[in-house]
Amino acid sequence: MADTVHDLLRGHAPDGPAIGAPGRPWLTHGALTDLAARMRASVNGLGIGRGDRVALVLPNGPEMAVAFVCLAGCVEVAPLNPTLPHDEIAFALKDLRARLLVVTAGDDGPAVAAARGLGIPVARLESQADGPAGTVTLMAGEGAGPGPPARPGVSHPDDGALVLHTSGTTARPKIVPLLNRNVAASARHIGAALALTPDDRCLNIMPLFHIHGLIAAVTASLAHGASVWCAPGFDALRVFGWLREARPTWYTAVPTMHQAILARAARNAETVAAARPRFIRSSSAALPAPVMAALEETFGCPVIESYGMTEACHQMTSNPLPPAPRRAGSVGLAAGPLVRLAEEAAPRLLDIDTPEQRGEVVISGPNVTPGYEANPEANARAFFEAEGQRWFRTGDQGMMDAGGMLTLVGRIKELINRGGEKISPLEVDGVLITHPSVQQVVTFAIPHRTLGEDVGAAVVLREGHTASDHDLRAFAAARLAAFKVPRTVLIVDEIPKGPTGKPRRIGLAEALGIGPR
Ligand code: AMP
Repeated sequence: MADTVHDLLRGHAPDGPAIGAPGRPWLTHGALTDLAARMRASVNGLGIGRGDRVALVLPNGPEMAVAFVCLAGCVEVAPLNPTLPHDEIAFALKDLRARLLVVTAGDDGPAVAAARGLGIPVARLESQADGPAGTVTLMAGEGAGPGPPARPGVSHPDDGALVLHTSGTTARPKIVPLLNRNVAASARHIGAALALTPDDRCLNIMPLFHIHGLIAAVTASLAHGASVWCAPGFDALRVFGWLREARPTWYTAVPTMHQAILARAARNAETVAAARPRFIRSSSAALPAPVMAALEETFGCPVIESYGMTEACHQMTSNPLPPAPRRAGSVGLAAGPLVRLAEEAAPRLLDIDTPEQRGEVVISGPNVTPGYEANPEANARAFFEAEGQRWFRTGDQGMMDAGGMLTLVGRIKELINRGGEKISPLEVDGVLITHPSVQQVVTFAIPHRTLGEDVGAAVVLREGHTASDHDLRAFAAARLAAFKVPRTVLIVDEIPKGPTGKPRRIGLAEALGIGPR
């Protein structure tokens, strides 16, 4: 059983397609493993080896997919959102202790400036535009010279493969390290839930700095000898052309993307009729039942909703493929880790034989992170021992029926889920409070018809100061990634408090009279 990312890529038909992209010949599984060996030699030649962190700031596409799977087998990869502003990238590079930054040849954007400011060497990916999709060479760039590799060669099962920041309930994002064995287990779990075979082909439209696209679309496909066709990002207008060119057997996306695709499906009826995917997968945010029904009707295939989380290296539960029944509104059955409900206060596992109780969803399994890095407080809150297992608390509330089908009913953590993009309200508070006119701020979720939730903030101004909604949003926009900027900033005299006198984020939109957007 493969326990490393390196092993996941091996043993597949060498001539079988692995990575595709618009207008490009396929990169085969054989060529991919050769490329992984070359990239390992290049990165080791720069003095970077097992356990060393390498930040990837690359546009979505086949090069990013290749860089991820090749490097995750020999160093610890930190994929960062390439649209983040300079300060957020600088924070991430420093907080994650990146030893190297990898960017595209010719990139002179904020990531390079941030690395320069921190004295982090930069390597560049030269791509061969007419070669097979994702054919790249890793070249030493600024500050990157030969060095003795600390720990060369392929990573072991307990070496880090991937490290991500997660938006938590603290202002400071938490660091989630995922080991080679976590990634391997998760790829196996996803492959089993979806019955992936070498005949499958995934169309990837998910961003490749988020766990969903990295693990479900790219790694799970490659680990099963299947192929993944990498679009240059999500674009609802171009999806139908991609479906024609890639001829995928499935794609995975967040509900807002499914909705955008559905909105244009009627105008592309011929493509849709010819597409005939085996299934469509949805994860990272709740899939509204009417969207699921419309997708099934339009594409004539089952829609499989799954429940994932960064700390679980993505998948925790999944609706089953036919002939087993799936259920709209449910995130399905345990699909890899053990999944139970727990009493929140204790925490204590709820009795498995008493269905329909509400509790916090807790998980235990080989895909789960060993723990947040350098954060004993968060780990003490997140993990507990029971029935001979170590359980991780997801912060989501659920209900399980007698057949083990899980339905999410709420959230204990204060995370805002904006169509799958997660925002920590405390991070937004932390930025707005530095505005000279702001005395108090509470960021909260506003119900939104298509996104599920959007970001709002209530602000009390300092006496004698003035600032408009527009000023405050512009202030936030200069300091935060676009998706975290509150769409609505309400200037109020007082922030409604909960029974304990603390501002209460959950339910604040309603308390302030803000209805769904
Ligand atoms: P992330 O770490 O970005 O993958 O976010 C994980 C969180 O997304 C989970 O803890 C849930 O709150 C939410 N989530 C993931 N999948 C679903 C789903 N199918 N339905 C509802 N919420 C989901």
